[in-house]
Amino acid sequence: MDLHTIETDFLVAGGGMAGLCAAIRAARQGLRVVLVQDRSVLGGNASSEVRMHIVGADHHGMRKGIRESGLIEELRLEDAVRNPAGQHPLWDVILYEKVVAEPNITLLLDTDVVGAEMEDSGPTGDAIPRPPRTNRMYEFAGKPGRIRAVRAVRQITQDEFLIRAAFFADCTGDGRLGYEAGADFRIGRESKAMHGESLALDVDDIHTMGSSFLFTSHRTEQPVPYTAPPWARKFTAEDLKAGRPIRSWEYGFWWIEWGGQHDIIKDHATSIRHELYRIVLGLWDYVKNSGRFPESANWALDWIGASPGKRESRRFLGPHILTQQDLQQPRNFEDEVAYGGWPIDLHPPLAMDDPASPPFESYDLKRPYAIPLRCYFSRNIENLFLAGRDISVTHVALGSTRVMATCAIGGEAVGFAAAYCMRNSITPAQLVASAHHVQELKQLMLREDATLLNTRFDLSLNKAHTAQITASSFQEPCRPENLCDGLTRDELDPDSGDLLRSHGWRSAPLAAGSPAWVRFDWRAPVEVRDIHLWFDSGFQRQLTLSADASTRATVIRGPQPETVRQYTIELDGRPVISEGDNYQRKRVHRLAAPMRCTSLRLVAAATNGVPEARLFEVRLH
Ligand SMILES: Cc1cc2nc3c(=O)[nH]c(=O)nc-3n(C[C@H](O)[C@H](O)[C@H](O)COP(=O)(O)OP(=O)(O)OC[C@H]3O[C@@H](n4cnc5c(N)ncnc54)[C@H](O)[C@@H]3O)c2cc1C
Repeated sequence: MDLHTIETDFLVAGGGMAGLCAAIRAARQGLRVVLVQDRSVLGGNASSEVRMHIVGADHHGMRKGIRESGLIEELRLEDAVRNPAGQHPLWDVILYEKVVAEPNITLLLDTDVVGAEMEDSGPTGDAIPRPPRTNRMYEFAGKPGRIRAVRAVRQITQDEFLIRAAFFADCTGDGRLGYEAGADFRIGRESKAMHGESLALDVDDIHTMGSSFLFTSHRTEQPVPYTAPPWARKFTAEDLKAGRPIRSWEYGFWWIEWGGQHDIIKDHATSIRHELYRIVLGLWDYVKNSGRFPESANWALDWIGASPGKRESRRFLGPHILTQQDLQQPRNFEDEVAYGGWPIDLHPPLAMDDPASPPFESYDLKRPYAIPLRCYFSRNIENLFLAGRDISVTHVALGSTRVMATCAIGGEAVGFAAAYCMRNSITPAQLVASAHHVQELKQLMLREDATLLNTRFDLSLNKAHTAQITASSFQEPCRPENLCDGLTRDELDPDSGDLLRSHGWRSAPLAAGSPAWVRFDWRAPVEVRDIHLWFDSGFQRQLTLSADASTRATVIRGPQPETVRQYTIELDGRPVISEGDNYQRKRVHRLAAPMRCTSLRLVAAATNGVPEARLFEVRLH
């Protein structure tokens, strides 16, 4: 092994959706970032290795208008346009491209984080004394500490890395880095008594949700016979009658789940993988050969996951542990940095070994809930952030927070917070202890397209706010003055998608040769450098990459029709920006040098589909 030492600002362990967003956001905020990912592709469960579709607070588009903004939206829009057929390998490439495009990120693929070095040089990893695993919920409480460096290994090139950083983020799902560092964590399910959660158990236990294999299949011209190997499981209709319906088979069955009663980390590569293979092959045998699905004759398997997708293992403990109550009676956390809205979706650990029980219990949430920054860092390791499914939540709350769009915006928040801590030479705990720091962080996030449920953008930070705003035309109630109200999406009826309150401008239908425009006039010259624009990208629909036919039917793969495609920006009548092929929601145009002007006009010439120009917000900095 060759040893390489790297000095950086921020080390992100794990390149799933949470780690990827943490790394990109921190890099765009100016940090030097090292992103260590143990696989050859990025995206974790959303990658082509697992192929789970990303969902979030809009619950597959059923809660309209609340789709996540920020980096995950940028990625989804990019994917919809550049991957029209919705193929997972192309999604992998888009994620890879986004990371390597960031000059501040050093990406180490095929590299495992395997250890931590602590400031006090105390024991790490397995050398830390820990309670034995029993059938009760496992809780580890360690010592206070600070990580100095992580050790990572890339076996395939025989390289070892010692990576020193100021801040670290554990986005590994299983919490490998936090484990090595001695961060406090739990595995298993809490009892009712622990947090007063009505959905918790009477007696806590060590069990988790299980892991899964997805598969994909396609229709062929000819019949394709299938013979299962003798070691595949055998299924009957009786085994599937409790909520495991087979309606189509192009995208496997999410309820192929096993291992929650085992050690989800230690048994991953042995019994869990083996049983998942037995289940997939047995179910395909049932589809093809039971006689119940004659229409499957011309279908062939084309891919089976080989790395079990995990839902749950370690959950670290931060200064706040998010609970069922925080989800069902949402709180206005001062340090809110993310939100969720997926139902509380709990899977019994026995999963397919208990065919009499349904594969999940789901409890709808009336409205989205905020998640505080205190769930995204360790309570005892002072420079360790957390993002993804290993954040500080109870088993019941994980039922909702684990979905990947929620993981992604949490990761992005961690990227912001790490950059903020670095700039101000403070720890995450010091950040949340100061109302001033928390406010500044949230304003920074809102400026870059984060959505916070209870925090409004400070209008005084927007130079456009002092202008008189006029437009070529508008449709009530989408008036031009909405462009500086600090809100970057419309308020929609969550069920019907009808407009409840407009926060943007809509022109009259565009006509050939007569584009629509909005104009900002100031009495005295203002200095403009950065022009931030927010366009409509169709938050009333879901947008996700999925192999599932019913999900695909609701998604537009291509530019979203609501988005302005072609526009120019003029300062004092002089064109300074010209864009011909926009499909993104958030655009930032940085002028080569600051310019003083008394007017700015945005001229929209074409959209990607709808007749009128739509714009949510214009901010000038
Ligand atoms: C079958 C199934 C169905 C699901 N359904 C949905 C759904 O429909 N929609 C949805 O949004 N979510 C769904 N989920 C949940 C969701 O996929 C997970 O909760 C989510 O992936 C967690 O995100 P993460 O970034 O924390 O972890 P991951 O996606 O697992 O990413 C973590 C990454 O870190 C890497 N890593 C691990 N250890 C190390 C190490 N030591 N060094 C370097 N890298 C490391 C891993 O390889 C992985 O790539 C489902 C999960 C499963 C298994």
